[in-house]
Amino acid sequence: MKDENCIFCKIANGEIPSRTLFEDDDFRVILDLNPATKGHALILPKNHYKNLYEIEDETASKVLPLAKKMVITMTEKLGCDGFNLIQNNNEVAGQTVFHFHMHLIPRYNDDNQNFVMKPNEMSGEELDAVRDKIVK
Ligand code: AMP
Ligand code: ZN
Repeated sequence: MKDENCIFCKIANGEIPSRTLFEDDDFRVILDLNPATKGHALILPKNHYKNLYEIEDETASKVLPLAKKMVITMTEKLGCDGFNLIQNNNEVAGQTVFHFHMHLIPRYNDDNQNFVMKPNEMSGEELDAVRDKIVK
């Protein structure tokens, strides 16, 4: 399942060169061209799924173990101080390339980056209503 108009399909399957950190039958892990920090990488499945809404469970179940492996190796090799894993779904959430990918972003004490979300106040009643909407 490839999409011939998708740049990440071409990269994942080696039709467009990339700075590959890891490859197996299902995935390619590459360096992001415009890194948020040194070592910012992307996990790309070789098959085309638009995002988390579309990725099949078998592939999805392999993403986190691969992320863990990369995070451990990259922390050792780069000497970073932590990691953010970010995975955007749909335009409203910041997705710009519509082929599932997970960002692996090494963090350094002095990296000057900021992925902190803005917390909002919400009453107990409102929180209950949200929970009820999801679980009922
Ligand atoms: P997102 O906003 O979650 O869709 O992330 C897309 C990411 O892909 C961005 O961080 C881009 O810098 C990165 N990107 C786009 N085109 C390429 C490319 N050809 N090679 C490597 N990274 C890319
Ligand atoms: Zn694709």
